[in-house]
Amino acid sequence: MPRSKFVAGNWKMHGSLSANLSLLTAVRTGVAGFRAQVAVCVPYPYLAQAQSALAGSNVAWGAQDVSEHVQGAYTGEVSGQMLNDFGCRYVIIGHSERRSCYGDTDAVVAAKYAAALKAGLTPILCVGETLTEREANITAQVVTRQLDAVIAGSGVDTLARAVVAYEPVWAIGTGKTATPAQAQEVHALIRARVAAGSPDVAAGLQILYGGSVKPGNAKELFGQPDIDGGLIGGASLVADDFIGICAAG
Ligand code: PEP
Repeated sequence: MPRSKFVAGNWKMHGSLSANLSLLTAVRTGVAGFRAQVAVCVPYPYLAQAQSALAGSNVAWGAQDVSEHVQGAYTGEVSGQMLNDFGCRYVIIGHSERRSCYGDTDAVVAAKYAAALKAGLTPILCVGETLTEREANITAQVVTRQLDAVIAGSGVDTLARAVVAYEPVWAIGTGKTATPAQAQEVHALIRARVAAGSPDVAAGLQILYGGSVKPGNAKELFGQPDIDGGLIGGASLVADDFIGICAAG
């Protein structure tokens, strides 16, 4: 069975109650009846707003991070169970901004991935190389290492309940998109790595591309055999752009 396309927005630390309302309403209406699955990952304080604005629509919602702990004295942290309380379906895990700014090592990412699954959430696991790593020709090693940390921690079969996003760090928020061929090459590598553990899981795994996706380049990217949609940062904040990208799915 062919994999369905999936487009997820990552709002990062953007938004306000009033701006969100028009964005959520426009997205809800704009993608109604689309073939692609659609989700938005919003800042924690806006989860209740996303829940009430999107309930009953074909747009799912989620968060951008989760604690590796279930509960306890972890000031500032948010658990998977708390995300469940707000109807979240997805949570982004291991975004490069978490890895580079907040010390999310491969081990922390693996623990957060496990915590998300335990709470019944679908992790969107981000992997990707920096420009220096690409120029040093170690993209495959980096992406494999990031993926293997999660497989070692939770088992390859858990990827049947997850989504992977390949996000080259040099393409995030830079306007520099990986070419469809560059992205496809890494997507194929990710799928092959998963297939080595479970061909069935690999065949069903949605692997999203992220990094300066726009309505104008989405169709070609999503048309690659191993690209199953996108994780969208900046363009997810502009209703027409996000809807345009979802239309390409
Ligand atoms: C992201 O932050 O996940 C991302 C892909 O950002 P952008 O689309 O702005 O490059």
